[in-house]
Amino acid sequence: MSPTSPNGSLLIGGRPREASDGGSFATINPSTGEAIARVAAATVDDVDEAVATAYAASRRWREAKPVERGRVLQAVARLLAEHRQELARLETVDSGKPLRQGLAAIDTAIRYFEFYGGLADKILGTTIPLGAGVLDYTVREPFGVSAQIVPWNYPLQIGARGAAPALATGNTVVMKPASEAPLSLLRVATLALEAGLPPGALNVVPGSGSVAGAALSAHAGVNQITFTGSIEVGTQVMAAAARNVVPVLLELGGKSPNIVFADTDLETALPIILRSILNNAGQTCSAGSRLLVQRTVADEVLGRLTELMSAATIGPGVDDLDLGPLISDRQGAFVHGMVSDGIRDGVEVLTGGAPAPQSETFGGSFYSPTLVVSKPGTAIAREEIFGPVLVALVFDDEEEAVEIANGTEFGLVAGVWTRDVARAHRVAHRVEAGHVSINDFGGGGVETPFGGTRRSGFGREKGVEGINPYLQTKNVSVNLTH
Ligand code: NAD
Repeated sequence: MSPTSPNGSLLIGGRPREASDGGSFATINPSTGEAIARVAAATVDDVDEAVATAYAASRRWREAKPVERGRVLQAVARLLAEHRQELARLETVDSGKPLRQGLAAIDTAIRYFEFYGGLADKILGTTIPLGAGVLDYTVREPFGVSAQIVPWNYPLQIGARGAAPALATGNTVVMKPASEAPLSLLRVATLALEAGLPPGALNVVPGSGSVAGAALSAHAGVNQITFTGSIEVGTQVMAAAARNVVPVLLELGGKSPNIVFADTDLETALPIILRSILNNAGQTCSAGSRLLVQRTVADEVLGRLTELMSAATIGPGVDDLDLGPLISDRQGAFVHGMVSDGIRDGVEVLTGGAPAPQSETFGGSFYSPTLVVSKPGTAIAREEIFGPVLVALVFDDEEEAVEIANGTEFGLVAGVWTRDVARAHRVAHRVEAGHVSINDFGGGGVETPFGGTRRSGFGREKGVEGINPYLQTKNVSVNLTH
């Protein structure tokens, strides 16, 4: 991609543009540390223009027939599918994930446009019985302009997860991708225009969080905000939204447990547990980053996982191995800092615990898959690391398993592994999380609601519930007596 490629421009009102002050930033291939494109960096003025453009477009888009909005989104899905390989490769090169995970990301993004395209004409109101003299009904209306701030770890999936339901319900969108990985979403927005989305319905303003992100979240013309990212920035976005009395949906971090009871079918469980921490090099909000294992099987489980983790293959995203790089050297230093602190806190390292030699070979920041055993309460066992670091904690009984599982400030997802049906449901009931998989991890899909409890955030995306953040209810009461 050349530095002047339109994919490196802002997209406002359907037109690719440079930033108003001519500023730009380099986006880096995390596998090699090399710059792959220069991207325009939106200024406060650019964000202003994008919000005004989205507002103007929303007047017409909200009046379009729902079935027409749905057809446009389905056409977007089809065009994205035609560009599946290209988009997967772009996501892989820009975010570092192995190619098959880039393909999974674009397939999920396609599904969001397909799913919400199908839902656009099925958004129903209610009638409320108030007696013979009154007709009372509700309608569900779009907010107007939805601001969507996206992190770098899964741009395609998270961007589509917000844009598709917002557009299906008649809102228009101003999206700010992360400056670490903006390219795939810029390309999606360009293709969406080609597929028939009206200019101004989906605007993209790449740039820094402190300028473009802050300007967007504080903008008085924004009517709803969807933020996915860290707790620290999420609370700033929520404070900015509060000043404008604007609803906000927050999808934040996690420290999600796989809870393995002694009667687990390990043959099935271990590969899934392994993938849940190695996918995207552990840089996943819903990574299975804690392993709670019952004492009677702890030695066997930890022994087998140590073998599997040390055999994992590591290399650049395009080589499509088990593990790609971390997003940046800074993230690499953070991950190693957390592991080093853990060692000082007395955790036992079973494998890994250091940057991988591939960092020297390829130039990116690679980290060896790491398995440590900790007691509950250490920082490494409680805090999000966002790297391929699995923290094992041993428990004796169900009561202790639930107590450890709930022993962090997060509550995003969990996995419960047991052949005992009653215990599986008891534990699913008691674990504080927005989603629990039984004998699986990260189950569900585009069709099922997703979101956090506690400091993992609030509000639900995905599934039929995923339209709720983008709709407000209006009640209409008709006096029929005169
Ligand atoms: P981040 O909070 O640093 O950045 C997220 C986005 O916010 C980026 O686009 C960034 O540019 C922008 N931003 C930064 N400062 C801002 C400001 N002051 N005002 C407005 N916007 C600003 O997060 P990250 O490092 O990109 O992503 C990692 C975090 O995201 C992790 O905590 C992870 O768990 C979380 N995450 C959550 C989910 C989920 O669905 N729950 C999914 C993916 C990632």
